[in-house]
Amino acid sequence: MSRYAIGVDLGGTIVKIGLVTDGRVVVMRTLAAESAGGLGARLPALRETIDGMLAAQGVARSELDGLGLSFPGLVDSARGRVLSTNAKYDDATEIDLEAFGRSFGGAFYIDNDARMATVGEWRYGGGRGSDNVVAMTIGTGVGCGVVMEGRLVRGAHHQAGCLGGHLVADYRGRRCTCGNRGCVEAMASSFFLDRIVREDVRVGEAFYERHRPFDFKKLFGLAGAGDPEAVLVRDECMDVWAAGVVNLIHAYDPEIVVLGGGVMRSAGVIVPYIQRKVDEMAWTPWGKVRIAASELGDEAAILGAAYCVTNGNL
Ligand SMILES: [Zn+2]
Repeated sequence: MSRYAIGVDLGGTIVKIGLVTDGRVVVMRTLAAESAGGLGARLPALRETIDGMLAAQGVARSELDGLGLSFPGLVDSARGRVLSTNAKYDDATEIDLEAFGRSFGGAFYIDNDARMATVGEWRYGGGRGSDNVVAMTIGTGVGCGVVMEGRLVRGAHHQAGCLGGHLVADYRGRRCTCGNRGCVEAMASSFFLDRIVREDVRVGEAFYERHRPFDFKKLFGLAGAGDPEAVLVRDECMDVWAAGVVNLIHAYDPEIVVLGGGVMRSAGVIVPYIQRKVDEMAWTPWGKVRIAASELGDEAAILGAAYCVTNGNL
């Protein structure tokens, strides 16, 4: 009989809940996150959605390995606790999530969301076949995770590999939400995109006023249509991501870097651009690090969380 696991991806705007078996999402449900209102207030709705999903699929609790949570913050996965949040689910450090997870009858696992996406891509997606994988997820922020020699990199305080978005791309750059200056996230993420366009001295005010508000979909669309100012900003962002990827390569020595997030709708532009930059700039005398697009999209963190529930702390 097949075994199942539940993977929950607690995003800032949407919670995604997947029922997983054999490395495959059988069914996915979504829930409005309302993350500014805290996690505690959403747990009853989360429970109801999971129970409804299990009932609809005819899966008994005895068939469940357990529940894995993918969380947007710093997490101590050994103790099953959230350590630090950043404007999403700020009450999570006070909640006994292990009790919630175990109430479904199996094991419980919780870890950082980008780290869970990295595990998903490593086992089932763009990083398959290598035991040295870095994954970077580009969206509102820039998330990161690292698998080195077949193990998740965690560090002394559970934050190693998670802070790839906060590697410095420009030490004179704008202030980041983390307190540092010129982080990859501050220089090229959706959260900062309005300021990135507005503060670029090469871009005219008319361009800014005509096209605001900005997101990467719009920016890549304009650039793809040949708008020269959009091309400048797009390439600036890709240069920042490339600098971040080179930093990650120098730090973690991967064979492959998997890029994910909503921007990868434009993978056909981004992957070859960053591959070329990495080939030029990374110090890798053994050969070339392969740059690949996420193959799992928004299922990556669900599949990673489910994998960790079934296989234990990696
Ligand atoms: Zn930062």
